[in-house]
Amino acid sequence: MAASDIERWFAEEQRRRDRRVQSCERKRWFESEAEARAAALLDRTRWGERRRPYRCELCGGWHLTSER
Ligand SMILES: [Zn+2]
Repeated sequence: MAASDIERWFAEEQRRRDRRVQSCERKRWFESEAEARAAALLDRTRWGERRRPYRCELCGGWHLTSER
């Protein structure tokens, strides 16, 4: 592999990582399932939105996803 290829690969890898972090930062983040469930319940009472907590493999925390 030429040096330029490595640089290109590295830049690409860096972009992927940035996207990954951004996708997590845009969402609400919870430390535990209990916290996420409490927030989901609150959303349901307040806005009537059904959300389901799920464990995020990228950041290790919990987010809420819409349920249909
Ligand atoms: Zn995440």
